[in-house]
Amino acid sequence: MATRFELVLHGEDPIFLQAVGEEVLQEIERLEALLSPYQPGSQIAEVNARAGEEPVPVDPQVFALIQQAVDLSRRTGGAFDITLGPLLQCWKLSGDKGIPPSPEEIERALQYTGYENLEMDAENYTLRLRRKGMWIDLGSIGKGYALSEGVKILKTWGISSALLHGGTSSIYALGSPPEEDSWKIALPKPLTNPEEETPPVFSKVFLRDQALSVSGVWGRGFWHQGKFYGHVIDPRTGWPVQKALLSAVVTEDATIADALSTALLVLGREGINYLSNWPKLQALVYLPRKEQKEQEESADYLLFSSEEGPSVFQPILGRKVA
Ligand code: AMP
Ligand code: MG
Repeated sequence: MATRFELVLHGEDPIFLQAVGEEVLQEIERLEALLSPYQPGSQIAEVNARAGEEPVPVDPQVFALIQQAVDLSRRTGGAFDITLGPLLQCWKLSGDKGIPPSPEEIERALQYTGYENLEMDAENYTLRLRRKGMWIDLGSIGKGYALSEGVKILKTWGISSALLHGGTSSIYALGSPPEEDSWKIALPKPLTNPEEETPPVFSKVFLRDQALSVSGVWGRGFWHQGKFYGHVIDPRTGWPVQKALLSAVVTEDATIADALSTALLVLGREGINYLSNWPKLQALVYLPRKEQKEQEESADYLLFSSEEGPSVFQPILGRKVA
């Protein structure tokens, strides 16, 4: 996952906690070896290598994750799609040259993208990509999944207070710190450009037995003629997204939080309409400046909650869009 995982565990016995923590990190490494398309021999690398050929048997656990990812694609109108490997590759190659791909190159990559062309056999636990050249990338969901599996281990060992994160963008808060009601997370203000200094805290987030996932347009990507082309791509158009600067999702399931924060970054404001399908979900979308001007002069962010109750997000900067 090309990132760093860390965890904080509370409890009486440091030696026991250390052992449990190590077991969690080992499990995350095992999942990486199973799921990374970049590790030759991983089950996903195998599915990709045999695209257009015969179905590939995978572990029931891997099958269930892919099934969940496809379900998320359907429920987000295709904004989330793990089969966009060829598009990522297309943008990566052109990024290395510093220019966007041609419309023809994007069109070609789009022809090899689409979860509808992923065949799943739930009886035999096999996966098959229909066309040679298709490939699965789990960059949008793998960290959240690793956290979900790590939390299961913590619970098995009776740990009731812990904080885990992968790359600071995927977080799970188990219980609360001793003597406190919740874990407190600081969400930085989205940068208006990636060269800006370290930004101030934009919102506090209060979590208890909840996952938080944050997606942003900056990070990997490149500039061309004053425009930034980032690493989150709209699988429907083939272009890097720009409808939101940042999206954050809080829910009980870290896998879903991870996938939906990526989907929300693709969908922007419109993404809010898809979220009521998930119970106990809260989300924040930070709009880019252009849209803020068009919609409402002073607006910065949108908040959503699928249920009544207090918001986990407590912004201290910016203004909320009605
Ligand atoms: P995240 O940081 O969780 O939002 O995930 C971003 C990563 O997910 C990117 O670096 C790509 O590997 C992958 N990705 C980009 N766009 C999409 C998309 N529309 N659907 C699914 N995965 C994507
Ligand atoms: Mg994600």
